Amino acid sequence: MPTIDDFIRPKEWVSGFVSDLGRVIRKWGEERYIPIRQQVDEDWKEHKIVEPLLKEVLVDLGINAAFFPAEVGGTDIPDPLTCVTVVCEELARIDAGFCVAAICSVWGMVPIIWKPHRNMELCEEFGPKFCGPELFVGCHVMTEPDSGADIENFGRLQGKTIKTTATLDGDEWIINGHKLWASNSGKVGDLYTVICTTNKGSTDPDDFALILVPADAKGVSVGNPYQKCGMSADINTDVWFENVRVPKRYRMHGPGDDLKYWREAITYGSIGSTAICVGVMKNVYEIIKKWTSERVIAGKPLKEHSIVADMLSEVTILIESTSAWMWTLVREISRPDIYGWDPWDERYLLKTRGLSLFASNAVERACSRAMDFMGSYGYAREFDIEKHYRDQKVIGLWMGGKTLKTLENARYWYNLETL
Ligand SMILES: Cc1cc2nc3c(=O)[nH]c(=O)nc-3n(C[C@H](O)[C@H](O)[C@H](O)COP(=O)(O)OP(=O)(O)OC[C@H]3O[C@@H](n4cnc5c(N)ncnc54)[C@H](O)[C@@H]3O)c2cc1C
Repeated sequence: MPTIDDFIRPKEWVSGFVSDLGRVIRKWGEERYIPIRQQVDEDWKEHKIVEPLLKEVLVDLGINAAFFPAEVGGTDIPDPLTCVTVVCEELARIDAGFCVAAICSVWGMVPIIWKPHRNMELCEEFGPKFCGPELFVGCHVMTEPDSGADIENFGRLQGKTIKTTATLDGDEWIINGHKLWASNSGKVGDLYTVICTTNKGSTDPDDFALILVPADAKGVSVGNPYQKCGMSADINTDVWFENVRVPKRYRMHGPGDDLKYWREAITYGSIGSTAICVGVMKNVYEIIKKWTSERVIAGKPLKEHSIVADMLSEVTILIESTSAWMWTLVREISRPDIYGWDPWDERYLLKTRGLSLFASNAVERACSRAMDFMGSYGYAREFDIEKHYRDQKVIGLWMGGKTLKTLENARYWYNLETL
């Protein structure tokens, strides 16, 4: 009888280490998280349950350290994008919001920790914290009150809507601005990767800056967590930077290269979002498989009704097709020697938007169809479809929303000139 392990995951591309890590996360999730996952929605504000679990994953299971160089205490895994994909799938199968909190800890650090563009000076300074015995969490702050999608729409707006500024004063940057919505903001984040501009209103790519700001720096303040539809394991708040001073070396790379490697992080954000959709759909598959086998309607198990078999079939097709497209792009991006484009190539950013759009539509459809056939039980908290249904909705909405994803995908395939 097939299981979730029979959906597409190319064995020749996923190393034994990464497969083992996936198994460890699954076992950890079954023992530590699934028994309490319905309580997490009540913990959205305090994170009394979530934060210790975040430590178990990021510190004890080594997810933070996986991506850092060995010289600073990391594991330095050779296939980081494959690892992200498996980790996201496995964590999202347990809880999509928890997955977001965990993986966003390292998302904003991609420009300085991934080869071949490591900034060893910054890795040496912050790596031991991420790889140490205490919980240390990163947070990638892009979105602003006046500008969410427009900041990510660099291809057209070229940074001119970014209002958070970085001004060089001797050997220090002075940061001023207001961000919101970032995963792990508020009391969770210890280090912010701040998207800012060195020249407000400019469209010069050299003015786009990625600057690290420790959460405890003077002038940083945060608001209260927002209460959301789902994803309660991820805390999102306002963050204000008021004349915050950080050393000049905290700019990740400098003019031009900051933008280049941020694009790469956005591409990985789309891959990670897709893997989250796949993880959620795999759990939906498990839940409806059990439910439609055990629930008897009109004298036979629900799954033996042809109209239900149609839904069951559709869910597997959504998982298989999303997985196949996702793994193909993961492979392409991981092998520039074969495919010819660097991971920070804008074409990958545009192409992966199409993938993440498809995935977010797939997971939305899978949750909704599963709920249709579980009836009232699907709508009840107890059976977890309801949780996935609420959690998944934002995957299409974040990172610029479905419209930006649609436009950027079309931009790639049709060379749009105005949109
Ligand atoms: C759970 C969660 C986690 C998040 N994590 C992070 C994070 O880690 N870091 C971070 O910085 N932000 C984060 N966000 C914020 C999120 O990425 C933004 O909300 C998102 O980019 C959209 O911005 P917005 O909400 O301001 O919508 P707006 O920018 O106001 O967009 C409104 C609508 O316009 C559409 N649109 C976009 N471009 C165009 C166009 N050219 N033409 C027509 N319509 C367009 C959008 O798709 C959307 O439907 C998170 C949000 C949530 C809910």
